[in-house]
Parts: sequence; C-alpha cells; structure tokens
Amino acid sequence: MSTLEIRDLQVSVKLPEGELKPILAGVDLTVKSGETHAIMGPNGSGKSTLAYSIAGHPKYEITGGTVHLDGENVLDMTVDERARAGLFLAMQYPVEVPGVSVANFLRTAKTAIDGEAPKLRTWAGELRGAMEKLQMDPSFAQRNVNEGFSGGEKKRHEIMQLELLKPKMAILDETDSGLDIDALRIVSEGVNRVRETGDTGLLLITHYTRILRYIKPDFVHVFVAGKIVQEGGPELAEQLEAEGYERYVGTRV
Ligand code: ADP
Ligand code: MG
Ligand code: MG
Repeated sequence: MSTLEIRDLQVSVKLPEGELKPILAGVDLTVKSGETHAIMGPNGSGKSTLAYSIAGHPKYEITGGTVHLDGENVLDMTVDERARAGLFLAMQYPVEVPGVSVANFLRTAKTAIDGEAPKLRTWAGELRGAMEKLQMDPSFAQRNVNEGFSGGEKKRHEIMQLELLKPKMAILDETDSGLDIDALRIVSEGVNRVRETGDTGLLLITHYTRILRYIKPDFVHVFVAGKIVQEGGPELAEQLEAEGYERYVGTRV
C-alpha cells in the first residue's frame, strides 16, 4: 500500500529571463495505490505543471509545500531517484531518444527501478505479452524511442512502460489527446489492467471527459488557475461533460 501526499504545493515556472511566474497556488491531493484520480481543468490551468513538478522537471521551481511518497520527501530526490522510488510520469509531449530502441529503453528502465536486470527469458516474454495486449507489431520493440512515433504509438508506448515497470504511482498527462477511438479504447484497457492489479495509484490528467468513459475514476478534482476548486466522484466528470468549465472560470474554454 503506497500513498502520494501533496500538501499546499506552490510552483512557479522559470522564465528565460530568470523571472519566476507563479502557476500552482497551493495544491492538496492524496492518492493511494489502487485508487484512480482524475484531474480535469481548462487549458493553461497548471495541470502539466503539477505533473512536471512531481516528476522533478528543472523548469519548475517549488516555492512552497511538500510532496511525499510513503513518507519519503519526493522534492529532495533527483529525477532518477523519483523513478526508483516508484513514480512514473507519462508526459504530454514525450521526448525522442535517438539510437535507443524501445526494447533497450524498457530493459534499462526496469533494471534501474528494480536494482537488478530482469531475467532475459521472462523479460522477453513480458515485453512480447505487453505489446500483444496493446495490439502493437513486434517490430515496434526495435524502433528508436519516440522517433517518428505517431500520436497513438507514443501513447501505447507509455502504457507499455506502465504495464512493465509497475510503478507505485503513475501520472498520465493528457494520455487521451490525439487518440482515435480505437487507440483510446486500447490504451484505456491497458490503464484498466494496471488499475485492476490494485498496486498502482493513478492520476489521470485531462482536459476532456472522453477518456473517463473508459476509465471510471474513483475521485474527480476540478483544477482551475493553479488549484483544486472542486472535488467529487465520477458523477462530477459527467457534470463537467454537460456543463464545461464555464461556471468555474466565467467563460467557456
Ligand atoms: P495545462 O497543462 O493545464 O494546460 P500548464 O501547466 O501547461 O497548463 O500551464 C500553466 C500556465 O503556465 C499557463 O499559463 C502557461 O502558459 C504557463 N507556462 C507553463 N510553462 C511555461 C513556460 N515555460 N513559460 C511560460 N509560461 C509557462
Ligand atoms: Mg495544456
Ligand atoms: Mg497540460
């Protein structure tokens, strides 16, 4: 049983001139393994900033508050240490890793997290199984990470990482963006498989409600102007689908 505890988190983005622009204005959130939380909010409300801050992106400066994973201070950890501690972030704009194949990338990540290399034979089987479930061609494993990947391939690759690395906490930032309906279903099924293990806490960040038709969150948090302004159960997502964010921000977004 793992717990991610975010308390009064305040974050600024570092602008090129060295100035700080405040984005997160005090975020409180607790996610336990086995729980699925959705963070929903208009564009520019700071959802990705929250994800990047937890992941340790250098562009974001923590100006207040705390983040703990099972009592350990996440904000003190390097990016690598965060991954080893069991945090997983699927980014809205994944980076290319030229010269590193999907198979090598995943094996290296698995080795780093577990502290030992996975047994070759079982690992090959796991990799193949994960790809089959996501309806990916086996040749995908030999391609370079994110190089020339379509939107759908990037998302499937993220979910493949999620299934193979078995993190304690996973933050999926706009995993639904740019997916056609078939890819959305396949990706959602992958997320639901991870969810059903009960070992991972999931934080789904999204602007739209459509992924929540496939993945029913236990908790929904409405995020506006750098903070959570309302919380509820899955019915809140349905309400947002009908009404949009208008009543939170005054204008339709
Ligand atoms: P969301 O993911 O909810 O769309 P973001 O976290 O991406 O929101 O952005 C929140 C706010 O921070 C926006 O107003 C955005 O313009 C600003 N912001 C984020 N990154 C930068 C940056 N590198 N430089 C300037 N402003 C930024
Ligand atoms: Mg955005
Ligand atoms: Mg975003």
